Amino acid sequence: MSRSPVRVSRRCGKRPIRVSFEFFPPKTDEAEEALWDSIHRLAPLGPDFVSVTYGAGGSTRERTQSTVTRLVRETALQPAAHLTCVGASRDEVDAVVRDYAAAGVNHIVALRGDPPGGVGAAYAPHPQGYQSTADLVRGIRDVAPFDVFVSAYPEKHPESPSLDHDLDVLQAKVDAGATRAITQFFFDNDVYFRFLDKVRARGIDIPIVPGVVPVQNFKQTAGFAARCGASVPNWLAERFEGLENDPATRRLIAAAVAAEQVIDLLDRGVRDFHFYTMNRADLVYAICHLLGMRPQAAEEGAEAGEDASASLPLAANG
Ligand SMILES: Cc1cc2nc3c(=O)[nH]c(=O)nc-3n(C[C@H](O)[C@H](O)[C@H](O)COP(=O)(O)OP(=O)(O)OC[C@H]3O[C@@H](n4cnc5c(N)ncnc54)[C@H](O)[C@@H]3O)c2cc1C
Repeated sequence: MSRSPVRVSRRCGKRPIRVSFEFFPPKTDEAEEALWDSIHRLAPLGPDFVSVTYGAGGSTRERTQSTVTRLVRETALQPAAHLTCVGASRDEVDAVVRDYAAAGVNHIVALRGDPPGGVGAAYAPHPQGYQSTADLVRGIRDVAPFDVFVSAYPEKHPESPSLDHDLDVLQAKVDAGATRAITQFFFDNDVYFRFLDKVRARGIDIPIVPGVVPVQNFKQTAGFAARCGASVPNWLAERFEGLENDPATRRLIAAAVAAEQVIDLLDRGVRDFHFYTMNRADLVYAICHLLGMRPQAAEEGAEAGEDASASLPLAANG
């Protein structure tokens, strides 16, 4: 009798997984404390980089910069600063990029940004600003040899006339020097793999890293999905149905939903994952654990033959 192959997610031993975590800059002292608690909780997992978003219309410019520079100063993490073209001239954007270069930041997530009037309003570039994301990518690379990451939309950007047009835009961003794309979140993994096939058929060969959003709050996530053109399948809504007043069960369902999605991605060959953390660590930490990731200091201790009681062996990850 032939045995079916063991699923990747059930194979023991260390896997070549790379993760990154996305945070947003905090508005209050309390939110700042929660953010740094989350960063300290997730940091030992050794993410490839951690990114900090840029508020719509550049509204968080100072807070994004101060969070990114604090990451450089106080942690060993590689921060990636999000930056958009909205509401600023080229000179103003270039000044921010130069500050990042001087601070020792190596990664920038370059975006066009949403129209200043909000999602759905017509987008008009700043008259003296970068006219497109590809322009911005080029401008950043002219300042310093940053690793520049960009967005990708498996379900099409809401303003785009077609997925083909999105692929033209992605191609232009790659031609301008982007080295990796991070996708908008999605819940149906087939959507991601179909998009990946189209990207590869175009000859675009940079990593297209799936953006995964753990559903910490279904209503909020569904609202966000509606604005950014990500579909929410009926089965997902059904899983959270009737749990409005039951946060404990909601958390368990959220963990199960996220686990199902990332395990399937892993089994189908994905090795890079970008998590939209919403500045909360617990769910993301648990998912990374499922992926086989363990706190690095504990593992290094185990490798050096020190007391390894704090770190379960990866082999337990069957
Ligand atoms: C991983 C990720 C991180 C993000 N981080 C932030 C952030 O930190 N701050 C923030 O404000 N927003 C952020 N966004 C949202 C993003 O700014 C919006 O989706 C914005 O509308 C498009 O920016 P972009 O760089 O993705 O656009 P692009 O990749 O440049 O364009 C996206 C699509 O929009 C269409 N499009 C663009 N310009 C035009 C035009 N002039 N006319 C017609 N169609 C056009 C094209 O079809 C194109 O494919 C993020 C999105 C993702 C996926």
